[in-house]
Order: sequence, then structure tokens, then C-alpha cells
Amino acid sequence: MNELFSIRMHATRGGGHLSGAERLVQEADLEGVAGQLIRRALAHPRGCAENIRLSVDALPAATVRTSRLPDLATVRVRDYRQGREAAEALLQHAGVSARGATRAMATLVAGAAPDGRSMRGAMLVDAESGDRLEPDPARGVRASRMDLSSVAEVQLRQALARLGLDNEHVREALVLAGKVMQVPGILAELCWSDDPDYTAGYVAAPALGYRRLTALKPAGEERGGRAFFVRRSDLNLEQLQRDLREMVVLFTELGELAGETPWEDVRDILAAGA
Ligand code: AMP
Repeated sequence: MNELFSIRMHATRGGGHLSGAERLVQEADLEGVAGQLIRRALAHPRGCAENIRLSVDALPAATVRTSRLPDLATVRVRDYRQGREAAEALLQHAGVSARGATRAMATLVAGAAPDGRSMRGAMLVDAESGDRLEPDPARGVRASRMDLSSVAEVQLRQALARLGLDNEHVREALVLAGKVMQVPGILAELCWSDDPDYTAGYVAAPALGYRRLTALKPAGEERGGRAFFVRRSDLNLEQLQRDLREMVVLFTELGELAGETPWEDVRDILAAGA
């Protein structure tokens, strides 16, 4: 494999987080991808970026770990209220306590950053108590250095298109969740977007794969975010943050991609297997 470059974009507006993205690319594609990331920050649904930072780091080929994407299945919910109920139940299935799931969800609903807006990164949440453990609650912890190989990208787009899901939100979230699930110490992840037009979200966990929920917030809502759940007793905070940032994961293979199942059926299947 040739040397890869990590390219990261972070954009702000009104002093707060607006948009962020990370890719792994070959040298020949760096300029093109840099342009796409800048365009994306300028055309964000929450407004045009006022400040954009790009950073590029060369990664030795030997550090790149190739991997398979998580399995994806969609849970169909009536509305975002049922979606949140389903997300709490899925998190509990993954080993998060009821209190941990409820508190994390309430924080995302209220706006996870101290000013009540969205964070740049994810909250790190104690799966038992729901306490937040990230050192800086405005910034959170950020996962980077993950992407699809170009062959896997084509295959994923075709497979998602058959399910009506070939959009940037799903592709990027699946890649991010795939990396986060490989970081030792992470039990589960909860996410819904801060894009006001995108109301779906997901729960991901090694025990569940990537479970997309058709609604987790009302349309027009700008507050969104991510929570990574960990067991406090096993936590090495420095190491976890380093792994999230620096472990290089290139997805070269797809997981299984399933269609939609109503929440009531998923609940019964999980209960029967528990
Ligand atoms: P998005 O899915 O891009 O709308 O992001 C939703 C929220 O997830 C953001 O507001 C951040 O809080 C968080 N987030 C986005 N990207 C990352 C990342 N690479 N690592 C950790 N958290 C992220």
C-alpha cells in the first residue's frame, strides 16, 4: 500500500463548531479532497463557515490497519420519541445502564456543549452512572484517521443505493462507528446529527453492529451530537483519546447490509436472544 495522508477539516461559525470531516487519501487525491472539504464547510446547512482549518499528515503505510465495516440494519420507528426509547433499549442491550443511557440522551437533547450548542467532538460517558468524562466538554473527544478504500467506497455506495441510503451521513457515520468500535474500551456509541434536515441517528456497539434509527430528533432541530460509552473502571483516558485520534483504520470490506425492521419486531428479537 502507498503512503496515505490524513486530511482533516474543522470549520466554525459565530465562534462555535459548524462542521468537521476527516479522510485518508493518496497523495494524488489530496488537492481534490481539500477542495471538497472546503466547499462542504462553505455550504453547510447551518450556515457558511467563517473559519476553516485544514490539516494534512503523512501516515507511514505500516501503521494502516485494514478492516471490515460493521453490519448495518435499520430500525423503523414511528417518530423521534419512539426512536429515543428504542435507542435507550439498544444501549442497554449493549451493556449501558438505564441511568447512563437516559442521562446521555438528556444531555444531547439539551445541547451537549456548555453554551447549549453542539460539540465539535463526542461526549465520553461512563456507561454506569452517565457521568461525562471528557476533559473539555466544549471540544469533546474526536475520532480521526478512518476512511473507505476507493474500491470499498464504490461497493458501499452501490449496496446503500439499493436500500435508498446512499448519502454522506450514512457513509461517514458507518466509517466513524466502525473505527470507534475497534478502539479498546468503547462499549457503545449513540449519535444524531446536528444538521437540522437530517433526523435519523444510530446506536452502534460490537454486540449490535450499526443500528440506524429512522428518527431520533424533530425536523429543524440543530442540536445533535455523539456519546461514546466506556466503563470507568477500565478507563485509561490518555490512551483512549490517543487511539480515537491516531489509530489508522481503512475499511476495505463491507459488512452485511440489511433493510428496515419495525422497532417492535427488533425489540422482540433482542428479548428472545437475551
Ligand atoms: P454529524 O454527524 O457530522 O452531524 O456530527 C454530529 C456530531 O457528532 C457533531 O456535532 C460532533 O459532536 C460529533 N462528531 C462529528 N464528527 C466526529 C468525530 N470525528 N469524532 C467525534 N465526534 C464527532
